[in-house]
Amino acid sequence: MRAVVTGGAGFLGSHLVDFLRGQGAEVLVLDNFITGQRRNIAHLVSDPHVQIREHDASYPFDVDGPVDIVFHLASAASPADFARIPIEVLRAGSFATHNCLELCERKGATFFLASTSEVYGDPLEHPQSESYWGHVNSVGPRACYDEAKRYAEAVSVTYRDHKGVQVRIARFFNTYGPRMRLEDGRVVPNFIRQALRGEPLTVYGDGRQTRSFGYYRDIIDGIWRLVNSSFQEPVNLGTHEERTILAFAHAVISATGSQSSIVHMPAAVDDPQQRHPDISRANFILNWYPQTSLEEGLRETIDYFRSVLDSGE
Ligand code: NAD
Ligand code: UDP
Repeated sequence: MRAVVTGGAGFLGSHLVDFLRGQGAEVLVLDNFITGQRRNIAHLVSDPHVQIREHDASYPFDVDGPVDIVFHLASAASPADFARIPIEVLRAGSFATHNCLELCERKGATFFLASTSEVYGDPLEHPQSESYWGHVNSVGPRACYDEAKRYAEAVSVTYRDHKGVQVRIARFFNTYGPRMRLEDGRVVPNFIRQALRGEPLTVYGDGRQTRSFGYYRDIIDGIWRLVNSSFQEPVNLGTHEERTILAFAHAVISATGSQSSIVHMPAAVDDPQQRHPDISRANFILNWYPQTSLEEGLRETIDYFRSVLDSGE
């Protein structure tokens, strides 16, 4: 298998590249490092079966030789980045998706889209199943991400239906693990960093909003099962372990053994209040079910952030 992974230097992308190498695939990593980290792929630099190309996927690109599959993961994913680099976020969901699909059409390759639970917006249905169309503010601060991903899904199924491209669409719910950026701004790195430094954990709003945290290994397993299936509709990948952000803050304090306190900050605008996937489709079609408990995933992730902080970076 020869695979292209856009966003391959990011948190999930770099784990996917490692997984694909474990399957014996040749991999071309395409990343502009806007939120990626060179250390995530440092171990791949001398691998003769991995090519690393610094490129912004929202500008056209070609690849020499055959390509079997394009995994499109390139996009900033932290709400903190939606305010910092909104145009880049829009371009990653729109132009970059087009460019990947054009490449797939030229090469006869399968297209995998890393979509998101954000397509459901601030949902009015719980849990969220793939048949729910969502509740999205198209002019709010999250619109650059949510609408670009919704567009990415639309353009994917259009290439599927009108150009014959094979597509696989996974909607990831909050996914965490080692290799996230320390200063990424998402809740998992924020809370762990704050707890390890003995700083107060910043809970936005009253902390009663919920999330369901999936571990990266389970999500990579789901991606692999999906691309090895022939299923061309969206599939949720996440976990049933739903908890409030306040409860999650306490879980991080306890898992790190920190003395940190909790401070409440203003609530984020349009912050989804309840997020909990219905994963029965993935279970039924892919025979997939997440295996990692929050306790186990947190332990590994905390170890990672501890080593990053100890290294002084
Ligand atoms: P990340 O920020 O760690 O990784 C994104 C990678 O994409 C980075 O390496 C970045 O440099 C690269 N990138 C961004 N724009 C690019 C462009 N135009 N051209 C080339 N490279 C570009 O984030 P992540 O959490 O690993 O997310 C990976 C993908 O999964 C994203 O598409 C994201 O929307 C999706 N996703 C993630 C989660 C999650 O909770 N982690 C949830 C839902 C969806
Ligand atoms: N959050 C928080 N403190 C932080 C970062 C995030 O309370 O330091 C909250 C945020 O308001 C949201 C949840 O944690 O309710 C998850 O936020 P994240 O940025 O990880 O991603 P989201 O799920 O909103 O895309």
